[in-house]
Amino acid sequence: MIDVIVAGGGPTGLMLASELRLQGVHALVLEKDAEPTSVVRSLGLHVRSIEVMDQRGLLERFLAHGQQYEVGGFFAGLGKRWPDRLDTAHSYVLGIPQTITHRLLNEHATEVGVEIRRGCELVGLSQDDHGVTAELADGTQLRSRYLVGCDGGRSTVRKLLGVGFPGEPTRVETLLGEVEVAVPPETLAAVVAEVRKTQLRFGAMPLGDGVYRVIVPAEGVAEDRSVPPTLDELRQQLRVFAGTDFGVHSPRWLSRFGDATRLAERYRTGRVLLAGDAAHIHPPTGGQGLNRGIQDAFNLGWKLAAEVNGWAPEALLDSYHTERHPVAAAVLDNTRAQTELLSPEPGARSVRRLVAELMDFEDVNRYLIEKITAIGIRYDFSEGHELLGRRMRDVGLKRGRLYELMHGGRGLLLDQTGRLSVAGWTDRVDHVIDVSEELDVPAVLLRPDGHVAWVGDDQQDLLNQLPRWFGAAVG
Ligand SMILES: Cc1cc2nc3c(=O)[nH]c(=O)nc-3n(C[C@H](O)[C@H](O)[C@H](O)COP(=O)(O)OP(=O)(O)OC[C@H]3O[C@@H](n4cnc5c(N)ncnc54)[C@H](O)[C@@H]3O)c2cc1C
Repeated sequence: MIDVIVAGGGPTGLMLASELRLQGVHALVLEKDAEPTSVVRSLGLHVRSIEVMDQRGLLERFLAHGQQYEVGGFFAGLGKRWPDRLDTAHSYVLGIPQTITHRLLNEHATEVGVEIRRGCELVGLSQDDHGVTAELADGTQLRSRYLVGCDGGRSTVRKLLGVGFPGEPTRVETLLGEVEVAVPPETLAAVVAEVRKTQLRFGAMPLGDGVYRVIVPAEGVAEDRSVPPTLDELRQQLRVFAGTDFGVHSPRWLSRFGDATRLAERYRTGRVLLAGDAAHIHPPTGGQGLNRGIQDAFNLGWKLAAEVNGWAPEALLDSYHTERHPVAAAVLDNTRAQTELLSPEPGARSVRRLVAELMDFEDVNRYLIEKITAIGIRYDFSEGHELLGRRMRDVGLKRGRLYELMHGGRGLLLDQTGRLSVAGWTDRVDHVIDVSEELDVPAVLLRPDGHVAWVGDDQQDLLNQLPRWFGAAVG
């Protein structure tokens, strides 16, 4: 009996499996593709995902492969400056292609002992009171205690469960590819700038060595989007919008994407859960999909591990849906809004100008950027201190940094009073007595995903909260 089968070895599945493994859970990743794709979808990590990597000691390797941008422009491509003093120690976007993010997460998963089987497609599943039976394309059957569908937007797991995926279908499609061009960079840049005055779904971003990442609206909507466009199709659409195809040639890869926007009705069906694109899809505006998948995994990993390890309090696993479903609904909403703001229609362009003016107000700019970067998220734990339910930013301590203490994925009581105790939970919660000049509360209790579960200085109050997140005391 395997503890958890993770169907899909994309960024969400790999992050989830690593989080499970960190808690001693046996996680098996089943990935249908024999080799990772060369198609680059996501171009980077936003603040919260950067923090997540830092909390698990992975940031150095990501920084070594990425480029830091301290720029705004992530809400509907509106070129505003990054708000001052974002509430984070990582006030930048980390530009890093999805293929590299995938490789680094794969490396991490392997290092912590996750078993990854490539070329294994899940085609069937059933569940009973004791576990889940997964059926693979080659007829093999595997049995696990839980199974998580991290198998992307067309999730087989979601379909097999019969979970509804309401929302809007693709109405517009965009062609995307990495190609070489036969015109000088200045000519290309001038034409692109001109076209973008009226069509914001058009662009050509230099990647070095004469290679560009080109996007252009498709002619219609393909019946099967997994079939890549041809180079001729790309050329044709470039001529339609720019009057020239820039002599594009030698594609590294070509792809297409739509603007379908859908959210799974529920994230948990008994012993089977959904995460990442399997649970929510939306257009790539603002660069949020991969980031949200990684954050889903970060929310779910320790809860599912607690369930497997036998100490999860009653409602812990269900809190995955309660907390993450509204987050995805809000992301779908902000991408719908951004899609409208990118429309070439005169009314939409007027609204775009108005929003651009409003973003000159620091608070508006900050609000929108906190949405995109996911640092504005507050889970509804209950009324209380303003930190409650929010993720805690990294702070300097007398002996190092807070995030350095979170690499093991355990709960953490940061105690500036030196009077508190987590006796009874020391197998699940670290007690750190230290002080920070950046923290003006006596003590905070952090969940393994870095969200604040309790703030205060009263031992009895703390004892009331510990079981809610960490189960019963032992010993
Ligand atoms: C053009 C474009 C640009 C984007 N840019 C950004 C960006 O800048 N920032 C951002 O955050 N996001 C971006 N995204 C979104 C991002 O690419 C996705 O949200 C992300 O890949 C989701 O990760 P995932 O692991 O949930 O799913 P996927 O990456 O789709 O991985 C799912 C995996 O499951 C496997 N699988 C499928 N079915 C099965 C099965 N039955 N059995 C076993 N394995 C299976 C697949 O082969 C795949 O490896 C972009 C998307 C597009 C299209």
